[in-house]
Amino acid sequence: MNHSAAPRPVPQTQPDSAAAPHRGLCTDCGISRSSDPKRCASACQFIQPQYPGLEERVHGRRRDPSRPDELHFGPFIQMHKASLKQASAGAQWSGITTRIAEILLQNKVVDAVLTMEADSNDRWRPSPILIDKPEDMKKARGMRMGYAPLLSLLEPAQSKGYKRLAVIGIPCQVYALRALEKTLGFEKIYVIGTPCSDNTTTENFHQFLNLITPAPQEVTYLEFKANYHVELRFQNGGTKEIPFLQLPLSDLPKDFFPLTCRTCVDYTNVLADITVGYMGGEGEQWIIVRNQTGQQLLSLLGDEVQLKKTGSAGKRHSAVLGFKKNVELAAGGLPLRKMPNWLRPIVSWIMPRLGPRGLEFARTRVEMKAIESIVHLRREQPARMKHMLPDHIWLLAQDYDLKPEAHEVTPNTHKEAHKETLRGVQGSHV
Ligand SMILES: Cc1cc2nc3c(=O)[nH]c(=O)nc-3n(C[C@H](O)[C@H](O)[C@H](O)COP(=O)(O)OP(=O)(O)OC[C@H]3O[C@@H](n4cnc5c(N)ncnc54)[C@H](O)[C@@H]3O)c2cc1C
Ligand code: SF4
Ligand code: SF4
Repeated sequence: MNHSAAPRPVPQTQPDSAAAPHRGLCTDCGISRSSDPKRCASACQFIQPQYPGLEERVHGRRRDPSRPDELHFGPFIQMHKASLKQASAGAQWSGITTRIAEILLQNKVVDAVLTMEADSNDRWRPSPILIDKPEDMKKARGMRMGYAPLLSLLEPAQSKGYKRLAVIGIPCQVYALRALEKTLGFEKIYVIGTPCSDNTTTENFHQFLNLITPAPQEVTYLEFKANYHVELRFQNGGTKEIPFLQLPLSDLPKDFFPLTCRTCVDYTNVLADITVGYMGGEGEQWIIVRNQTGQQLLSLLGDEVQLKKTGSAGKRHSAVLGFKKNVELAAGGLPLRKMPNWLRPIVSWIMPRLGPRGLEFARTRVEMKAIESIVHLRREQPARMKHMLPDHIWLLAQDYDLKPEAHEVTPNTHKEAHKETLRGVQGSHV
């Protein structure tokens, strides 16, 4: 990022895509387009994130690895499988995310909701929007692929005099929001987060869509589901499920997923008040309530939502280990260990039945992501490891023979957290 750049004028309308100062690891969350782009230095997940401190500020305490599942999913007070009894048309799952925001507007708890709608020329491209009428929340429903400068609309929200805001965001946007929250001058910000992984630019996503279907322009919906399939829906009402194993992932260019998303350390949006995803939902939505504000947000749904106990089955270790081997090969530019074609349908049939399911599926994905972050950063930007990888990433990867070298950790971080677990780190100052 160019720190010597003069302050930019406050954006008043939709952000101009050419206006963002360029820096290497950046998902254009919007801060670099604000009147004070230098704030990226303290706000960015990809520079020197301070997860334990922010967890403490937002939730009253940092994640506690001795509590069940907190190492994997971050601090929480409740977890549920969930669905709206009446799904919202156009929603990605049943629409819990946008319905909570809609009720916040209906009840005048917030003045506006900061979120994404679809770009008017490309249904898959996210475009930031401030919504102040409950009936307009339907514009935001559904998933777009890629990232767009959500937080560039914070200053316009201030200029409009909004005092209470809800923000729906993916983890890298929520990190920057929380890092700057105290300086923004809003009375209250309610944060509804979704998990995020394997994101890429909208342009790259179109390339992927072209590879998996002969009719990409007719696809209206895509989701990577917890049953190890990608679901596609088409304009004519047709649907198609493709097993993960039959996706042409190894045919994608090496830089298909940007380094930001290959080294992202927050899969489950740990700084949101409530995270709404699907990974641990066994075919339904998966809700992580992280603090009292999150509890208040969930209770707005009243009996519109059906909550169920989460389940867990299968064992993750061998799946994660196999993934690690492939990530190491791919990061080294070597051909992936490909499964013979005849075996793919068999394994595709077995995985949803015997592979990790429910919370075990979510733990699997979180460990895979941690491994990916270490392997790719070590290879491509080793000098950043020390500051970019929080302790929890090393803890998640420790069962897969991935330990930090002395120069890859900061003594201070490790002094503060998890002394016991990290005591064996060679050469560290724990
Ligand atoms: C790129 C991406 C990757 C994801 N990966 C996972 C995952 O691996 N595991 C998992 O459990 N969940 C993941 N999710 C979340 C999941 O797809 C659903 O969005 C979530 O479960 C909410 O469903 P819903 O029906 O409540 O959403 P809806 O009520 O339909 O609302 C969706 C909300 O997400 C916002 N949104 C859509 N696209 C974007 C975008 N590109 N950037 C920022 N905000 C956006 C919309 O504006 C809207 O506010 C991902 C989401 C995105 C955007
Ligand atoms: S992701 Fe956001 S905070 Fe980080 S450099 Fe880009 S604009 Fe700045
Ligand atoms: S994977 Fe991480 S870095 Fe990439 S868009 Fe999602 S939250 Fe941001």
